[in-house]
Amino acid sequence: MKITNIEVIRLNSGKGPIKGELWNPTVVRINTDEGISGLGEIGFAYSEAKYGSFGIIRDFAQKIIGDNPMEIEAIWEKLYTRTFWGYGGGGLIFGAMSAIDIALWDIKGKALGVPVYELLGGKTNKKLRTYASQLQLDWGVDCHPLIDPKAYGQAAVKAKEDGYTAIKVNPFMFGKDASVFSGKYTGHMGIEQIKLASDRIAQIRKQAGEELDIMIEMHSLTSTNTAIQVGRELEQYNIMFMEESGGILNPDSMKEIAENVKIPQASGERNYSRFGFKPFFENRSIKLAQPDLGNTGGITEGKKIADMAYIYDVAIQAHICGGPVATAAALQFEAAVPNFLIHELHASALQKENMNLCTNVYLPEKGYYSVPDLPGIGQELNPNALKDADIVVVK
Ligand code: MG
Repeated sequence: MKITNIEVIRLNSGKGPIKGELWNPTVVRINTDEGISGLGEIGFAYSEAKYGSFGIIRDFAQKIIGDNPMEIEAIWEKLYTRTFWGYGGGGLIFGAMSAIDIALWDIKGKALGVPVYELLGGKTNKKLRTYASQLQLDWGVDCHPLIDPKAYGQAAVKAKEDGYTAIKVNPFMFGKDASVFSGKYTGHMGIEQIKLASDRIAQIRKQAGEELDIMIEMHSLTSTNTAIQVGRELEQYNIMFMEESGGILNPDSMKEIAENVKIPQASGERNYSRFGFKPFFENRSIKLAQPDLGNTGGITEGKKIADMAYIYDVAIQAHICGGPVATAAALQFEAAVPNFLIHELHASALQKENMNLCTNVYLPEKGYYSVPDLPGIGQELNPNALKDADIVVVK
Protein backbone atom coordinates (compact mmCIF):
# COMPACT_ATOMS: atom_id res chain seq x y z
CA MET A 1 0.00 0.00 0.00
CA LYS A 2 1.17 3.54 -0.76
CA ILE A 3 0.15 6.98 0.42
CA THR A 4 -1.10 8.83 -2.65
CA ASN A 5 -2.27 12.15 -1.28
CA ILE A 6 -3.01 13.87 2.00
CA GLU A 7 -5.81 16.33 2.69
CA VAL A 8 -5.17 18.87 5.43
CA ILE A 9 -8.57 20.13 6.53
CA ARG A 10 -9.32 23.02 8.87
CA LEU A 11 -12.91 22.47 9.96
CA ASN A 12 -15.14 25.26 11.11
CA SER A 13 -17.95 24.36 13.46
CA GLY A 14 -18.52 28.07 14.03
CA LYS A 15 -19.15 27.52 17.72
CA GLY A 16 -16.98 26.48 20.59
CA PRO A 17 -17.85 25.70 24.19
CA ILE A 18 -16.92 29.23 25.26
CA LYS A 19 -19.12 31.97 23.89
CA GLY A 20 -17.55 33.90 21.05
CA GLU A 21 -14.67 31.49 20.56
CA LEU A 22 -14.50 29.82 17.16
CA TRP A 23 -13.95 26.11 17.10
CA ASN A 24 -11.64 24.89 14.35
CA PRO A 25 -10.34 21.34 14.68
CA THR A 26 -7.71 20.64 12.02
CA VAL A 27 -7.80 17.10 10.71
CA VAL A 28 -5.73 15.20 8.21
CA ARG A 29 -7.09 12.58 5.83
CA ILE A 30 -4.45 10.28 4.37
CA ASN A 31 -5.49 8.54 1.16
CA THR A 32 -3.90 5.42 -0.32
CA ASP A 33 -3.69 3.58 -3.63
CA GLU A 34 -5.89 0.81 -2.20
CA GLY A 35 -8.79 3.16 -1.59
CA ILE A 36 -8.39 3.11 2.22
CA SER A 37 -8.31 6.48 3.97
CA GLY A 38 -7.34 7.36 7.52
CA LEU A 39 -8.31 10.30 9.75
CA GLY A 40 -6.32 12.06 12.45
CA GLU A 41 -6.71 15.31 14.36
CA ILE A 42 -4.31 17.94 15.62
CA GLY A 43 -4.90 18.65 19.32
CA PHE A 44 -5.39 22.40 18.95
CA ALA A 45 -9.02 23.14 18.09
CA TYR A 46 -9.14 26.41 19.99
CA SER A 47 -7.32 29.42 21.34
CA GLU A 48 -4.22 31.23 20.13
CA ALA A 49 -1.81 29.31 17.85
CA LYS A 50 -4.55 26.86 16.84
CA TYR A 51 -3.60 27.30 13.16
CA GLY A 52 0.11 26.79 13.80
CA SER A 53 0.27 23.10 12.96
CA PHE A 54 -1.68 23.58 9.71
CA GLY A 55 1.43 24.78 7.88
CA ILE A 56 3.74 22.25 9.50
CA ILE A 57 1.51 19.36 8.55
CA ARG A 58 1.58 20.44 4.89
CA ASP A 59 5.38 20.27 4.94
CA PHE A 60 5.39 16.94 6.76
CA ALA A 61 2.79 15.49 4.39
CA GLN A 62 5.14 16.08 1.47
CA LYS A 63 7.77 13.94 3.20
CA ILE A 64 5.58 10.83 3.28
CA ILE A 65 3.79 10.76 -0.09
CA GLY A 66 4.59 7.35 -1.61
CA ASP A 67 5.43 5.75 1.77
CA ASN A 68 3.78 2.56 2.99
CA PRO A 69 1.17 3.72 5.56
CA MET A 70 1.49 0.42 7.46
CA GLU A 71 5.02 1.42 8.53
CA ILE A 72 3.82 3.73 11.27
CA GLU A 73 6.91 3.65 13.47
CA ALA A 74 9.22 4.31 10.53
CA ILE A 75 7.14 7.31 9.47
CA TRP A 76 7.15 8.66 13.03
CA GLU A 77 10.95 8.40 13.17
CA LYS A 78 11.30 9.99 9.74
CA LEU A 79 9.22 13.02 10.70
CA TYR A 80 11.00 13.33 14.04
CA THR A 81 14.62 12.72 13.17
CA ARG A 82 14.82 13.61 9.49
CA THR A 83 13.14 17.00 9.49
CA PHE A 84 15.31 19.78 10.85
CA TRP A 85 12.74 21.42 13.15
CA GLY A 86 11.00 18.15 13.87
CA TYR A 87 13.93 16.97 15.95
CA GLY A 88 13.57 20.04 18.16
CA GLY A 89 10.02 19.03 18.98
CA GLY A 90 7.51 21.40 20.56
CA GLY A 91 3.73 21.44 20.57
CA LEU A 92 3.10 22.53 16.99
CA ILE A 93 5.55 19.97 15.58
CA PHE A 94 4.11 17.15 17.65
CA GLY A 95 0.60 18.36 16.79
CA ALA A 96 1.30 17.79 13.10
CA MET A 97 3.01 14.45 13.74
CA SER A 98 0.11 13.37 15.95
CA ALA A 99 -2.58 13.88 13.32
CA ILE A 100 -0.55 11.95 10.75
CA ASP A 101 0.15 9.15 13.24
CA ILE A 102 -3.52 8.76 14.25
CA ALA A 103 -4.54 8.64 10.57
CA LEU A 104 -1.99 5.89 9.93
CA TRP A 105 -3.38 3.78 12.80
CA ASP A 106 -6.85 4.34 11.32
CA ILE A 107 -5.61 3.03 7.96
CA LYS A 108 -3.93 0.01 9.53
CA GLY A 109 -7.09 -0.90 11.45
CA LYS A 110 -9.23 -0.59 8.33
CA ALA A 111 -6.74 -2.57 6.21
CA LEU A 112 -6.77 -5.42 8.74
CA GLY A 113 -10.48 -5.09 9.53
CA VAL A 114 -10.01 -4.49 13.27
CA PRO A 115 -10.45 -1.58 15.70
CA VAL A 116 -7.22 0.11 16.75
CA TYR A 117 -7.47 -1.21 20.32
CA GLU A 118 -6.91 -4.72 18.91
CA LEU A 119 -3.62 -3.56 17.42
CA LEU A 120 -2.57 -2.11 20.79
CA GLY A 121 -2.98 -5.44 22.58
CA GLY A 122 -6.75 -5.70 22.86
CA LYS A 123 -9.17 -4.29 25.40
CA THR A 124 -8.13 -4.14 29.01
CA ASN A 125 -11.04 -1.80 29.81
CA LYS A 126 -14.48 -2.84 28.58
CA LYS A 127 -16.13 0.38 29.80
CA LEU A 128 -14.45 3.72 30.37
CA ARG A 129 -15.43 5.63 33.51
CA THR A 130 -15.93 9.25 32.48
CA TYR A 131 -15.91 12.57 34.31
CA ALA A 132 -17.79 15.76 33.52
CA SER A 133 -15.11 18.37 32.85
CA GLN A 134 -14.85 22.16 33.30
CA LEU A 135 -17.90 22.72 35.51
CA GLN A 136 -16.99 26.40 35.96
CA LEU A 137 -18.83 26.66 32.60
CA ASP A 138 -21.85 24.90 34.09
CA TRP A 139 -22.70 21.37 32.97
CA GLY A 140 -24.50 20.69 29.70
CA VAL A 141 -24.83 22.20 26.26
CA ASP A 142 -25.34 25.77 27.44
CA CYS A 143 -21.88 26.88 28.57
CA HIS A 144 -21.52 30.11 30.56
CA PRO A 145 -19.39 31.30 33.46
CA LEU A 146 -20.58 30.37 36.93
CA ILE A 147 -20.05 32.94 39.66
CA ASP A 148 -22.12 32.12 42.72
CA PRO A 149 -20.72 29.19 44.75
CA LYS A 150 -24.22 27.71 44.93
CA ALA A 151 -24.30 27.50 41.12
CA TYR A 152 -21.15 25.34 41.26
CA GLY A 153 -22.98 22.94 43.52
CA GLN A 154 -25.98 22.90 41.17
CA ALA A 155 -23.75 22.15 38.16
CA ALA A 156 -22.26 19.19 40.02
CA VAL A 157 -25.74 17.92 40.85
CA LYS A 158 -26.66 18.12 37.14
CA ALA A 159 -23.58 16.08 36.23
CA LYS A 160 -24.41 13.56 38.94
CA GLU A 161 -27.98 13.27 37.65
CA ASP A 162 -26.51 12.51 34.21
CA GLY A 163 -24.73 9.56 35.80
CA TYR A 164 -21.23 10.95 36.40
CA THR A 165 -19.45 9.96 39.58
CA ALA A 166 -16.58 12.40 39.03
CA ILE A 167 -16.26 16.02 37.90
CA LYS A 168 -13.52 18.56 37.24
CA VAL A 169 -13.77 22.26 37.93
CA ASN A 170 -11.59 25.36 37.97
CA PRO A 171 -12.82 27.27 41.04
CA PHE A 172 -10.96 30.53 40.38
CA MET A 173 -11.08 31.03 36.60
CA PHE A 174 -14.00 33.44 37.01
CA GLY A 175 -13.94 36.31 39.49
CA LYS A 176 -16.91 37.57 41.48
CA ASP A 177 -17.71 39.99 38.65
CA ALA A 178 -17.58 37.28 35.93
CA SER A 179 -14.17 38.51 34.78
CA VAL A 180 -12.00 35.80 33.27
CA PHE A 181 -8.66 35.32 34.94
CA SER A 182 -6.08 34.31 32.36
CA GLY A 183 -2.87 35.53 33.99
CA LYS A 184 -0.79 33.94 36.69
CA TYR A 185 -1.19 34.10 40.44
CA THR A 186 2.45 34.43 41.37
CA GLY A 187 4.00 34.81 44.79
CA HIS A 188 0.93 35.03 46.96
CA MET A 189 -2.81 34.65 46.50
CA GLY A 190 -5.10 36.88 48.54
CA ILE A 191 -7.39 35.40 51.18
CA GLU A 192 -10.49 36.68 49.38
CA GLN A 193 -9.56 34.78 46.20
CA ILE A 194 -8.81 31.58 48.07
CA LYS A 195 -12.05 31.86 50.03
CA LEU A 196 -14.08 32.24 46.83
CA ALA A 197 -12.51 29.07 45.39
CA SER A 198 -13.01 27.24 48.68
CA ASP A 199 -16.67 28.28 48.93
CA ARG A 200 -17.32 26.99 45.42
CA ILE A 201 -15.82 23.59 46.18
CA ALA A 202 -17.60 23.48 49.53
CA GLN A 203 -20.92 23.90 47.70
CA ILE A 204 -20.07 21.10 45.28
CA ARG A 205 -19.27 18.80 48.18
CA LYS A 206 -22.36 19.86 50.10
CA GLN A 207 -24.86 19.60 47.24
CA ALA A 208 -23.44 16.63 45.32
CA GLY A 209 -22.41 14.57 48.32
CA GLU A 210 -19.39 12.88 49.85
CA GLU A 211 -19.04 10.22 47.18
CA LEU A 212 -18.50 12.45 44.17
CA ASP A 213 -14.87 12.52 43.01
CA ILE A 214 -13.75 16.11 42.51
CA MET A 215 -10.77 17.11 40.39
CA ILE A 216 -9.45 20.66 40.59
CA GLU A 217 -8.41 22.24 37.28
CA MET A 218 -5.70 24.84 37.86
CA HIS A 219 -4.89 25.57 34.17
CA SER A 220 -1.39 26.47 35.36
CA LEU A 221 -2.76 29.82 36.57
CA THR A 222 -0.87 29.32 39.82
CA SER A 223 2.82 29.44 40.64
CA THR A 224 4.49 27.00 42.99
CA ASN A 225 3.57 28.97 46.10
CA THR A 226 0.03 29.95 45.15
CA ALA A 227 -0.72 26.36 44.11
CA ILE A 228 0.42 25.22 47.55
CA GLN A 229 -1.84 27.86 49.12
CA VAL A 230 -4.85 26.68 47.11
CA GLY A 231 -4.04 23.02 47.60
CA ARG A 232 -3.73 23.31 51.38
CA GLU A 233 -7.08 25.10 51.56
CA LEU A 234 -8.83 22.51 49.38
CA GLU A 235 -7.37 19.42 51.08
CA GLN A 236 -10.35 19.47 53.46
CA TYR A 237 -12.73 18.49 50.60
CA ASN A 238 -11.12 15.12 49.85
CA ILE A 239 -9.97 16.04 46.34
CA MET A 240 -9.15 13.35 43.79
CA PHE A 241 -6.50 15.30 41.79
CA MET A 242 -5.18 18.80 41.18
CA GLU A 243 -4.35 19.38 37.51
CA GLU A 244 -1.61 21.63 36.07
CA SER A 245 -0.99 23.21 39.46
CA GLY A 246 2.39 24.78 38.88
CA GLY A 247 4.95 25.22 36.13
CA ILE A 248 3.89 22.69 33.52
CA LEU A 249 7.39 22.59 32.07
CA ASN A 250 9.02 22.76 35.48
CA PRO A 251 9.41 19.37 37.18
CA ASP A 252 10.90 21.01 40.29
CA SER A 253 7.82 23.19 40.75
CA MET A 254 5.50 20.21 40.40
CA LYS A 255 7.60 18.19 42.84
CA GLU A 256 7.52 20.95 45.45
CA ILE A 257 3.73 21.21 45.15
CA ALA A 258 3.34 17.43 45.41
CA GLU A 259 5.47 17.38 48.55
CA ASN A 260 3.55 20.19 50.23
CA VAL A 261 -0.07 19.38 49.38
CA LYS A 262 -1.98 16.23 50.34
CA ILE A 263 -3.72 16.04 46.97
CA PRO A 264 -2.26 13.95 44.11
CA GLN A 265 -1.04 15.96 41.13
CA ALA A 266 -2.02 15.51 37.48
CA SER A 267 -0.55 17.08 34.35
CA GLY A 268 0.31 16.47 30.71
CA GLU A 269 -1.94 18.19 28.14
CA ARG A 270 0.91 20.62 27.37
CA ASN A 271 3.74 18.10 27.64
CA TYR A 272 4.88 16.64 24.38
CA SER A 273 6.33 13.19 23.68
CA ARG A 274 8.10 10.73 25.97
CA PHE A 275 10.76 13.34 26.58
CA GLY A 276 8.23 15.83 27.91
CA PHE A 277 6.90 13.38 30.49
CA LYS A 278 10.19 11.78 31.53
CA PRO A 279 11.25 14.27 34.25
CA PHE A 280 7.79 14.25 35.87
CA PHE A 281 7.86 10.46 36.09
CA GLU A 282 11.42 10.35 37.37
CA ASN A 283 10.83 12.89 40.14
CA ARG A 284 7.52 11.23 41.05
CA SER A 285 5.65 14.52 41.13
CA ILE A 286 2.56 13.44 39.17
CA LYS A 287 0.26 10.51 39.83
CA LEU A 288 -1.93 11.00 36.74
CA ALA A 289 -0.45 11.69 33.30
CA GLN A 290 -2.76 13.35 30.79
CA PRO A 291 -1.21 13.19 27.31
CA ASP A 292 -3.29 14.61 24.46
CA LEU A 293 -2.98 12.15 21.57
CA GLY A 294 -3.42 15.08 19.19
CA ASN A 295 -0.34 16.95 20.36
CA THR A 296 1.93 14.54 22.20
CA GLY A 297 2.87 12.46 19.16
CA GLY A 298 -0.23 10.44 18.33
CA ILE A 299 -1.26 6.94 19.34
CA THR A 300 2.28 5.63 18.81
CA GLU A 301 3.72 8.07 21.34
CA GLY A 302 0.72 7.98 23.66
CA LYS A 303 1.13 4.22 24.13
CA LYS A 304 4.82 4.64 24.93
CA ILE A 305 4.05 7.37 27.46
CA ALA A 306 1.42 5.12 29.05
CA ASP A 307 3.94 2.26 29.28
CA MET A 308 6.53 4.57 30.84
CA ALA A 309 3.88 5.81 33.27
CA TYR A 310 3.14 2.21 34.26
CA ILE A 311 6.74 1.73 35.39
CA TYR A 312 6.44 4.74 37.69
CA ASP A 313 2.98 3.71 38.97
CA VAL A 314 1.31 6.67 37.29
CA ALA A 315 -2.25 6.45 35.93
CA ILE A 316 -3.39 7.63 32.49
CA GLN A 317 -6.17 9.84 31.21
CA ALA A 318 -6.08 11.19 27.66
CA HIS A 319 -6.63 14.96 27.59
CA ILE A 320 -9.45 15.70 25.19
CA CYS A 321 -10.78 19.06 24.15
CA GLY A 322 -11.19 18.73 20.40
CA GLY A 323 -13.33 17.41 17.59
CA PRO A 324 -14.98 13.99 17.26
CA VAL A 325 -11.88 12.51 15.59
CA ALA A 326 -9.88 13.23 18.77
CA THR A 327 -12.54 11.54 20.90
CA ALA A 328 -12.64 8.46 18.66
CA ALA A 329 -8.84 8.06 18.84
CA ALA A 330 -8.78 8.52 22.63
CA LEU A 331 -11.44 5.83 23.16
CA GLN A 332 -9.34 3.27 21.24
CA PHE A 333 -6.21 4.15 23.20
CA GLU A 334 -7.87 4.18 26.63
CA ALA A 335 -9.57 0.83 25.96
CA ALA A 336 -6.17 -0.79 25.55
CA VAL A 337 -4.11 0.92 28.26
CA PRO A 338 -4.03 -1.07 31.54
CA ASN A 339 -3.18 1.95 33.70
CA PHE A 340 -6.11 3.97 32.29
CA LEU A 341 -7.98 5.70 35.09
CA ILE A 342 -10.75 7.90 33.73
CA HIS A 343 -11.95 9.56 30.50
CA GLU A 344 -12.43 13.32 30.18
CA LEU A 345 -15.71 14.57 28.75
CA HIS A 346 -15.40 18.25 27.94
CA ALA A 347 -18.48 20.36 27.27
CA SER A 348 -17.14 20.77 23.69
CA ALA A 349 -18.09 17.14 23.02
CA LEU A 350 -21.71 17.95 23.83
CA GLN A 351 -22.00 20.80 21.31
CA LYS A 352 -24.05 19.71 18.32
CA GLU A 353 -21.97 21.92 15.99
CA ASN A 354 -18.93 19.93 17.08
CA MET A 355 -20.63 16.53 16.88
CA ASN A 356 -21.93 17.28 13.37
CA LEU A 357 -18.39 17.50 12.00
CA CYS A 358 -18.31 13.69 11.87
CA THR A 359 -20.66 10.83 11.06
CA ASN A 360 -20.44 8.96 14.38
CA VAL A 361 -21.49 10.51 17.67
CA TYR A 362 -19.82 8.94 20.69
CA LEU A 363 -21.18 9.87 24.09
CA PRO A 364 -21.13 8.09 27.45
CA GLU A 365 -24.14 6.45 29.03
CA LYS A 366 -24.64 6.86 32.77
CA GLY A 367 -21.07 8.06 33.15
CA TYR A 368 -19.41 5.29 31.16
CA TYR A 369 -18.22 5.11 27.54
CA SER A 370 -18.45 1.95 25.50
CA VAL A 371 -15.62 1.51 23.04
CA PRO A 372 -16.55 1.45 19.33
CA ASP A 373 -15.79 -1.79 17.51
CA LEU A 374 -15.62 -0.37 13.99
CA PRO A 375 -12.35 -0.88 12.08
CA GLY A 376 -9.68 1.76 12.67
CA ILE A 377 -10.66 4.56 15.03
CA GLY A 378 -14.30 4.29 13.91
CA GLN A 379 -14.83 7.84 12.69
CA GLU A 380 -15.47 9.58 9.34
CA LEU A 381 -15.93 13.21 8.34
CA ASN A 382 -19.43 14.40 7.62
CA PRO A 383 -19.43 15.60 3.96
CA ASN A 384 -21.40 18.68 5.06
CA ALA A 385 -18.52 19.70 7.34
CA LEU A 386 -16.24 20.02 4.31
CA LYS A 387 -18.37 22.72 2.71
CA ASP A 388 -16.92 25.62 4.68
CA ALA A 389 -13.59 24.00 5.57
CA ASP A 390 -10.18 25.22 4.39
CA ILE A 391 -8.62 22.29 2.55
CA VAL A 392 -5.11 21.83 1.17
CA VAL A 393 -4.34 18.66 -0.78
CA VAL A 394 -0.71 17.50 -0.80
CA LYS A 395 0.13 15.12 -3.66
MG1 MG B 1 -6.71 20.76 31.76
